[in-house]
Amino acid sequence: MDTGKITLEVVSPQGLVVKEQVDEVNAIPGSEGEFGVLPGHMCFVTTLKVGVLSFKSAGSEKYVFINSGYAEVSSSNISILADSAEKAEDIDVERAIAARQRAEERLRQAEEVDFARATAALDRATARIQIVKR
Ligand code: ATP
Repeated sequence: MDTGKITLEVVSPQGLVVKEQVDEVNAIPGSEGEFGVLPGHMCFVTTLKVGVLSFKSAGSEKYVFINSGYAEVSSSNISILADSAEKAEDIDVERAIAARQRAEERLRQAEEVDFARATAALDRATARIQIVKR
C-alpha cells in the first residue's frame, strides 16, 4: 500500500537508532555521493561513507550521523546498517571535539602515522560536530 511515507530504519551494532515513518529522506551519504529518496523510489542497495543522514518528519528536518555501512532502498522502506550512528541529540560534542583534536595532532606528525585511520577519525568527528552545530 502506498501511504506516501517512507519507513526509515537505522541500525548499528549498538542497536536500533531510528525507526520512523518519514515524508522524505533528503540526504543519504552514499559512497558515490549524497542522494535523496522520495516515496515510490525504485529498489537498490548501496554502500555508505561517513556523513549526515537528513530526513523530514512531522514537518521538521532531522539529522543523524552515519559512520559508513549499507543502505537498502525500496519504494516505501529504507534500511541503513551503519558501523556506528547517532541521532543529533545523542551526539556528545565534547567527545567529538576531543576526537577531532587527536586526529589532527596525529596528522601533523608526518611520520609513523596511519594516515588513513587518522583521516577517517577526523571525518567522523567533523561530521558529528557539523550535526550538532546545525
Ligand atoms: P571516539 O574516538 O570518540 O571513540 P570514534 O569515531 O572512533 O570516536 P566510533 O568507532 O564511530 O567512535 O563509535 C564507537 C561508539 O561510540 C559507537 O557506539 C558510537 O555511537 C559512539 N560514539 C562515538 N563518538 C560519539 C559521540 N561524539 N557522541 C555519541 N556517541 C559517540
